[in-house]
Amino acid sequence: MQRDIHNELQRRAQRVLPRGVYGHESTLLLPDSYPQFFSKAEGAYLWDADGNKYLDFMCAYGPNLLGYGDPRVNQAAIDQLHRGDTMPGPSPLMVELAEDMVGMVQHADWAMFCKNGTDATTMAKTIARAQTGKRVILVATGAYHGAMPWCTPMPAGVLPEDRSYIRQYDYNSVESLEAAVAAAGDDLAGIFAAPFKHDAFIDQAEPDPAYAQRARDLCNDTGAMLIVDDVRAGFRLTRDCSWELIGVRPDLSTWGKSFANGHPISALLGSDRARDGAAAIYATGSFWFAAVPMAAARATLQILRETDYLEKSVRLGTYLRAGLDTAASDAGFSFRQTGPVQMPLFLFDDDPDFRIGFAWSEAMLRRGIYVHPWHNMFLCDAMTETDMDLTIDAARDAFLEVRGQLSTLQPHALLAEMFQQRAAE
Ligand code: PMP
Repeated sequence: MQRDIHNELQRRAQRVLPRGVYGHESTLLLPDSYPQFFSKAEGAYLWDADGNKYLDFMCAYGPNLLGYGDPRVNQAAIDQLHRGDTMPGPSPLMVELAEDMVGMVQHADWAMFCKNGTDATTMAKTIARAQTGKRVILVATGAYHGAMPWCTPMPAGVLPEDRSYIRQYDYNSVESLEAAVAAAGDDLAGIFAAPFKHDAFIDQAEPDPAYAQRARDLCNDTGAMLIVDDVRAGFRLTRDCSWELIGVRPDLSTWGKSFANGHPISALLGSDRARDGAAAIYATGSFWFAAVPMAAARATLQILRETDYLEKSVRLGTYLRAGLDTAASDAGFSFRQTGPVQMPLFLFDDDPDFRIGFAWSEAMLRRGIYVHPWHNMFLCDAMTETDMDLTIDAARDAFLEVRGQLSTLQPHALLAEMFQQRAAE
């Protein structure tokens, strides 16, 4: 695979970007052959800086819901760009988009818009405190809610004080949640919950409805705010808040990534129970009111309401899961596919340091399929049954190739170091 341009970019990046590239889009914790820079994306496909083409199962870590560059969404964005984008205040689109979202998400009575998922989760935390006048925020151990000091998974530069009222409980455990709520005494401001357990490096898990309902009841009893972080899964499981599927309505829900099909916008939705807190806080940003992403969001939401994108993703995902299961077991691997079929995660049994998963992912990449060895992936509406067949065929070859390499595989050095550090903490 051609890598000359990539290697040169990486060399230059080391000088002008911290760590080369930072955050979750850095490839430092991915197999060595993974491309860091991409020059083009179209539909379900992605081209790296050297022009190598991949069928992309990361979907930009979520934002690509309909297909990269969806012409219906982009036309709406381009039309708005000619009219105005960042102005001294919002365009009428802000009211219309808020009406769209409140119309689709049943627990929501109002909306606020921002740029990234972290903006929305951080605002949710602040509103929970402003609404209740209390301090403690509960988050599930291992859950990702963004990259600010209160929630970042990396401790560098973060003070214990930044997190002094952030406490943890175990996702899906009623007992652990009850204990954390009891320990908060009369100081509980809010409980965060992911729509399902989608932490990195471990199997995904459905939410236990008893846990979700208990979280709701505990918030009702204490006056605290229940917050569902739908930044990653929003509109991928249902055309509503994801917990609507299990009949539990939060006070606040956070959205991002996909509802403008990749255009930069995120949202915080809330019920009347959280309205005063939302009205009280100071929340803004130079680009939060930009009209172009709002036009893209309205166009995306219309497509979500009017097409079978969701049902199709479940159909293709189910087909893919069955095909990969057969290919893996034919090659003698115990291969775990967890989470919703449209947001799959692939892990191997007997692979504690991920060396098998890394080798298989690299073997897939060489066959033009971009998969992730430890983060959940996404299907997009531009994918076809032919794409699923290509993936299953590539997987079949990749499983056989890795079977032949098992005795010589080595762990990934940086990942091994990270696991060691975590074990020591
Ligand atoms: N919450 C969840 C569940 C996420 O998956 C993410 C992003 N991976 C965030 C919050 C933060 O979103 P962003 O990276 O847009 O700030």
